[in-house]
Amino acid sequence: MPDDDRIAFKLELTVCDRTIEAETPIPNQPLRVVDLLPVLLAFDSALVGMAADKTESDGQKISCREGCGACCRQIVPVAEAEAVYIAELVADLPAPRQAYIRQRFQEALAALGEEFVERLHDTSKCHELAERRRLGEEYFNRGIPCPFLDQERCSIYQHRPMRCREYLVTSPAENCSNPSPETVRPVDVPVQLSRILFCFADGLGDQSTRWLPLVLALEFSGEQKRFPGPELFRRFVSQIGH
Ligand code: SF4
Repeated sequence: MPDDDRIAFKLELTVCDRTIEAETPIPNQPLRVVDLLPVLLAFDSALVGMAADKTESDGQKISCREGCGACCRQIVPVAEAEAVYIAELVADLPAPRQAYIRQRFQEALAALGEEFVERLHDTSKCHELAERRRLGEEYFNRGIPCPFLDQERCSIYQHRPMRCREYLVTSPAENCSNPSPETVRPVDVPVQLSRILFCFADGLGDQSTRWLPLVLALEFSGEQKRFPGPELFRRFVSQIGH
């Protein structure tokens, strides 16, 4: 696409006493939210990085390290656009790897059990925080690793969902293998783009929060509407800080 078919957006955002400036070109054509994800995921990582810097400069050490996948047995909420992104990512993998990942998804679903998977299909019924916590605990207690976890490393690190990026802890890493609100201290990430993305199931950010567990991503078949790319991006960034 020629450069003149893109519109450059300049952003400046201050979080945790730190400011980031970024310029990103957005294609001036109809786009799905999923088409914006490479930009939004990078942006989310930058915001989380600012919160992490602030935490460490305040004297708290972040315990998360490469090779520690303890949190990768938790339920991972993904927005519908992320589910599509993951499904397309898997569909683009070389055939043997794709077959392996699809098998991992099947094994995870089988291990979760039909009845529990049925409940996971309807997370919209979990209105209360206590209900979501209970579902999360039941999921974690089954001890099922994320289908993308290979030797305790994320095999889609560059593409991992926003909630994975936004979850960092300062409590000892070993506490994550038996997490509770008392033993795990998450880093405070004041701007979490996942919360905005969860409201974009309609494509324009007018929806109430909607998410599904990552383990159901390959089964998701919802429609992704297209809107003019610059308008879509403008709508998304206008939600930051609200
Ligand atoms: S996508 Fe990656 S970081 Fe997220 S739970 Fe799976 S393995 Fe862990």
